[in-house]
Amino acid sequence: MQECPFCQIAQKKLDTALVYEDEHVVGFHDINPKAPIHILIIPKIHIATLNDLQNADTGLVGHMVWTASQIAQTMQIADLGYRLVFNCNNAGGQTVFHIHLHLLGGRALTWPPG
Ligand code: AMP
Ligand code: ZN
Repeated sequence: MQECPFCQIAQKKLDTALVYEDEHVVGFHDINPKAPIHILIIPKIHIATLNDLQNADTGLVGHMVWTASQIAQTMQIADLGYRLVFNCNNAGGQTVFHIHLHLLGGRALTWPPG
């Protein structure tokens, strides 16, 4: 999936700075942030949407959530609070078809989302 921008980031083929990396996931700043802290956590493997998850991927998705919680602590927004979001397909607002977990924080977030 060389044409996938998030595969390219995970494979370090773009000059996107990573704020987190381990064997399974990377984290980086959203290029168009919607909050003072807006980090994307992605798996290194290409999974297009949440609809494509297999039962074997549950550990990976849990690891993405755990990673986001660690980044929130590192960025000192954990106590104030933050939001984690997966968008799925067009009505869900997904624009990049490689699953990604949005970590949003640093301000009070309204509910419900638009
Ligand atoms: P979504 O709308 O849930 O698919 O979110 C995709 C997010 O990826 C948007 O918030 C974009 O601003 C962000 N984005 C797209 N391309 C890049 C990139 N090259 N580097 C960082 N963030 C990106
Ligand atoms: Zn991809």
